[in-house]
Order: sequence, then C-alpha cells, then structure tokens
Amino acid sequence: PNTQYELLRRRIFSNTKELFYFINSGLSDIQKQATKVAPEILESINFLINMGNEHKKSLLHDIEQLAEVDGYANWRQKESNDLSTLVMDRFKYLQNPENCDTARKLVCNLNKGCGYGCQLHHVVYCFMVAYGTKRTLILKSKGWRYHKAGWEEIFKPVSDTCLSPNGQSIAGWPGNPETQVINLPIIDSLTPRPPFLPLAIPEDLAPRLIRLHGDPIVWWVGQILKYLLRPQEKTSNLLQETIDKIGFKRPIVGVHIRRTDKVGTEAAFHRLEEYMLHVDQYFDYLETKQVVNKRRIYLASDDPKVFQEAKKLYPAYEIIGDPSVAKTAAVSTRYSDTSLFGIISDIHMLSMSDYLVCTFSSQVCRVAYEIMQNFYPDASHRYRSLDDIYYYGGQNAHNMIAVLPHEPSKKGEMTVNAGDIIGVAGNHWNGFSKGRNLRTNQIALYPSFKVKDKVETAKFPTYAEMHK
Ligand code: GDP
Repeated sequence: PNTQYELLRRRIFSNTKELFYFINSGLSDIQKQATKVAPEILESINFLINMGNEHKKSLLHDIEQLAEVDGYANWRQKESNDLSTLVMDRFKYLQNPENCDTARKLVCNLNKGCGYGCQLHHVVYCFMVAYGTKRTLILKSKGWRYHKAGWEEIFKPVSDTCLSPNGQSIAGWPGNPETQVINLPIIDSLTPRPPFLPLAIPEDLAPRLIRLHGDPIVWWVGQILKYLLRPQEKTSNLLQETIDKIGFKRPIVGVHIRRTDKVGTEAAFHRLEEYMLHVDQYFDYLETKQVVNKRRIYLASDDPKVFQEAKKLYPAYEIIGDPSVAKTAAVSTRYSDTSLFGIISDIHMLSMSDYLVCTFSSQVCRVAYEIMQNFYPDASHRYRSLDDIYYYGGQNAHNMIAVLPHEPSKKGEMTVNAGDIIGVAGNHWNGFSKGRNLRTNQIALYPSFKVKDKVETAKFPTYAEMHK
C-alpha cells in the first residue's frame, strides 16, 4: 500500500476518537452544571452523548474494517515480521562479535536507582547507543536490586560470546572511536548527547516503519525489549504456569493502577471508576465486531486494596490478577526477589491484553505498551492513558507539525499556521492538546486533530556488511 493511504487510514481513526473526545467532554461539562440547566436540555444532552457514542463506535468499526478488506492485511503481517527479523539479526550480530578481546564495547550498569520499568528503559537506552555506535553492549548486573545474582539468571544474557567489560583502553562517555571500552552514564547525565536517543528511529528503517506503524519509536523500543527480555527457561516456565493458573484468556483489557509512592509526587490519583469507564468503552466497541460473553480484565497494581474494590463494584466482570502480588510491590519490599517475578508477570500479562487502560506516567504501563507492539503489526492505538501521552524518559522534544491553521476561539488557545512546529506537552483528552508553538513561543492549547506527528530519525549504522 502507499504510505499516504496508510497514514490517512490511521489519521481518520485517531481523529474520529478526537472528535468524540471533543463533543463528549463539551457536553459533559454542561451536564456537570446540572442545577443551572433545564431538565429537558439535560435530557437532550444525554441523548446527544449516547447517540454520538454510537456514531463513533460505528465509524471506528468501519475504519478498522477497511484494513481488513483493502487487501493489505497479509502484507502488514509480513512486513511486520520481516522488519522484526531484520533488526533481530542485526542485534545478534552486534552482540556476538567474533573476538571479544578486541571488540569495541559499551558498558551499561543495570542498577539505576529506580524501579523495574525505569531500569528496563535505562537498558533500552544503553542498547540504542550501543546500536548507534556499533559497540557490543555489556550489561553489568551483579548486585541488581531486584535479584542480587544478576540479570542472566532471569533473562538470557545480552550476548552469547562476549560478557566481559575488559579491554585495552577504557574511558567514560563519549571516549573516541579507538577507545575499546566506553562506560555509559545514565541518560540524565549524558553529555554530549548522541543523535541516537528517543524519539529518533534509525533513518534506514524509517520509510518502512512510517508506513507500517502508527508510532514508530514505540515499535523500535518494543524490538529492543523483545531482544533483551528473552526469558531463561525458568522464567518462561513460571510465566506459563501463571497464565494457566489465573486462566488468562482473551478478550481481556489490561488495567494498571499505579498508586502508593507515585500519587501526589509524579502523578495524580485516579479513581477505579475512571479506569473502568474506558474498559467499558473498549468492550462496547469490541461488541460491534464480536460477541463478548464476559467482560474480563487483568488487574495489576501496587495497591492491594483496588482488588477488593474492583470485585465489590464490578461483580459482573471477571477480574484476573493477584492482590498478593500487589503486596510485594509496596515500597518497603519492592526491590527484592519476591517482587521481581510479580512485576515481570504483571507486565507480561498487561502486554498480552487486547487493550491497556492505565496512566502513561508510570513506566510499568509504558513498558507493557512497548512489548505489546510485538504482538501486532501496529498496536499503537490499543491503549487509553488517563494522563500522559507516550514518552520516553530523557527523550528529546516531541514535535508535531500543524497541518491545519487555527485561530483561538477561547482564552488559552494558540494561533497556529499550517506548517508550524509544536512541541507537545500532553493531550487533555477533550479534543485539545497543550504545547509550545516553536514559531511564536506561545504555550497554549490547540485542537489535537490539526497536527500530525513529526517522526524523528537519526543516521544509525545500517549494518550493511552483515549481508555480504
Ligand atoms: P513507575 O514508578 O510507575 O514509573 O515505574 P517503575 O517500574 O520505575 O517503578 C515502580 C515499581 O513499583 C515497579 O517496578 C514495581 O516494582 C512496583 N510496581 C508498580 N506497579 C506495580 C504493579 O502493578 N505490579 C507489580 N507487581 N509491581 C508494581
């Protein structure tokens, strides 16, 4: 298919959602002023919301159907497999040099002082720089806060042939091309910053990825996680046992509720009902395509109380998930062996769900979303975040390109010319996003449908010698 067609198809899908966010939130705001509004008007508003919702579902259903009947479904699946094979081959080649004694290396210490999701993102960042500088990644993980014996007991080693951090010459970042071993700091203290950091994807893959996938950087991160998280047999058996034990079955919506230490510091509190609203919207939508006998969710949280609450408030649902796992996620016990399998398995189940409802301010849910990309040619629309849009900690600016002009109609909106670059800060999920217009420097709201994503690329090595 031509790229323009694929982009348009996805754009109509996401802007149909944006249209509904806009109408629904405007009407709901009027509803909230119930005492000032005549009962007949409230009734009309209810009618508009309900019918509007049906319109939206039907439109989304038809647009999704388009991808089934346009004759490109097989192509998408094959292209997705081919691209993954291509990068996996390159990763294996990079990670298994013929001679480890002379190989150029990039050393990364797993033990960043943060949670599992944050540490995974740290390793992914190291891998991007390794791939970008053509250095074999050496992962130091002895004394890992989640498992003292190290990464290799849980996941396959990142190399089969080269695990030693030793070499003739050793330097801190950036070193120089002759330095054999370079120690990489965490992304927060990296200077100078190489071009390989998110949100950049490899330039040589960009045309194919932009055609195939709605958010190429998430695909790219997902591929690196696919390589890194190849489970050891014991881990893989444990995961399979858990799947069997809890009766993990699709369709299922993955719900991640991040509470405890996150709330009030890095994220706002969201009630269970807010999450469940989106769960219901997903199932309502799914019912336009198939019979759903049971509304099933996989619930993961660091707060055991949400399990009782969910069982009490939503008795018609099948709720899968383990409150005792949530107990191990408490801040006091979090960094330990007992909590490690819990978080690995929660992320695994979330990633295998049909759809994710969570807060993208949490790295747990972002990791699940990244891994989810491995199970579909394009799973970029299979989530609803209650707060942030997708981001990668330490990323460069996330820019959008305006495709339509905008004149403010209310205070707080920005003036936009077509072609303006806008650094996006967040989606307000009401039809508007907030950002900074780089032309005018104005920080304000703009209608989300008037922009498109600016996909960033960098000149990563192309590993052409592999194919000789
Ligand atoms: P963030 O703080 O939410 O951005 O994510 P991090 O992964 O960096 O740190 C949070 C840590 O809390 C996780 O790595 C887990 O150890 C624990 N945690 C948070 N949410 C859950 C959950 O749903 N299930 C489990 N098992 N642990 C969780």
